[in-house]
Amino acid sequence: RAVPRRKIVASSVGAPAYLEVEQSYIIIKPDGVQRGLVGEIISRFEKKGFLLKGLKLFQCPKDLAQEHYKDLKDRPFFPKLIDYITSGPVVYMAWEGDGVVASARKLIGATNPLQAEPGTIRGDLAVQTGRNGVHGSDSPDNGKREIALWFKDGKLCQWESVQTPWLIE
Ligand code: ADP
Repeated sequence: RAVPRRKIVASSVGAPAYLEVEQSYIIIKPDGVQRGLVGEIISRFEKKGFLLKGLKLFQCPKDLAQEHYKDLKDRPFFPKLIDYITSGPVVYMAWEGDGVVASARKLIGATNPLQAEPGTIRGDLAVQTGRNGVHGSDSPDNGKREIALWFKDGKLCQWESVQTPWLIE
């Protein structure tokens, strides 16, 4: 049995375990929801071993979309991006685990799905940059910012998975 490390969690055998607290903010964009890919996309993060801390199906208003993507506001595609992200329900999530931000970016793949590697979400499931199915935070600081912005009451679910002691030594 692996010996867990970092942040204290309740392990299935009652011994303390230690996990790194890093969180990534993930969105299944409207095309992903409409195409029936919610289960497939969530499954990839679950199978990797990250911990789901918050989740909601939600239609994003324009002002929230603009705040979320404010770093891109001067880009020519910004108005189209805001129309796209507000065009239907999204599923937004907070995922936690060691190195989750960089790892989620790898699981998601390159922004342009035609350049994304096979095996990544975008590489396997999408073809256009403007319909690339999923968002993932690009830094731990942005993960914090985005989770605070979307989970307005700041409350994520506090729980531990029974698999943690088998993932972390
Ligand atoms: P990523 O989502 O991979 O972090 P960016 O932060 O550069 O990529 O862009 C945010 C989102 O804006 C992209 O995921 C995509 O939906 C959209 N986008 C980026 N570049 C373009 C483009 N050239 N044309 C249309 N949409 C774009």
